[in-house]
Amino acid sequence: MAAARVTAAIALGGNLGDPPATLATALHRLAAHPGISITACSPLYRSTAIGPEGQPDYANAVILISTLLPALPLLDLLQQLENEAGRLRTVRWGARTLDLDLLLFGDENISHPRLQVPHPEMTQRQFVMRPLHDIAPDGTLPDGRAFSAITASLPDSGLAIWPDPRWPSLDL
Ligand code: AMP
Repeated sequence: MAAARVTAAIALGGNLGDPPATLATALHRLAAHPGISITACSPLYRSTAIGPEGQPDYANAVILISTLLPALPLLDLLQQLENEAGRLRTVRWGARTLDLDLLLFGDENISHPRLQVPHPEMTQRQFVMRPLHDIAPDGTLPDGRAFSAITASLPDSGLAIWPDPRWPSLDL
């Protein structure tokens, strides 16, 4: 029997080094995985860092994938890519080269010591909800809440498009 494909949403972010290049590299690494097809890429956004002051702005994007991987192996892969990008985990909310969050995995609710899905903070973050809504305007959370309603309810935090010819760097 063929393994079931699941549509998952992944948030990409980073604010050290050359963030658009880091996000484009991560996108290519995901696209090269045999169990993953990229089905949509949001525009690249620039957001002001939350947490310690004086940090560089973040680059943020959201992608949709169709995957044969179960959720935990997918998280393993995301963490491997973060580590390859040289992410430092010393400061909570501190600057990071690459942050990859699994936002949604089909319509599953997952509560595991390593993995909470839907991602618990996604609905409070405009830099997640706006790009997610861009690529899934009719989408809903497993509890039925519409991305459009959540996005509209979030305060404007000065999120802006970050034009960069290296993103999305894939022909879909
Ligand atoms: P962060 O610093 O926000 O990247 O958090 C990383 C930690 O969150 C790791 O220990 C993950 O196991 C855990 N985690 C829980 N749920 C998720 C999720 N949906 N996506 C990514 N990491 C998650």
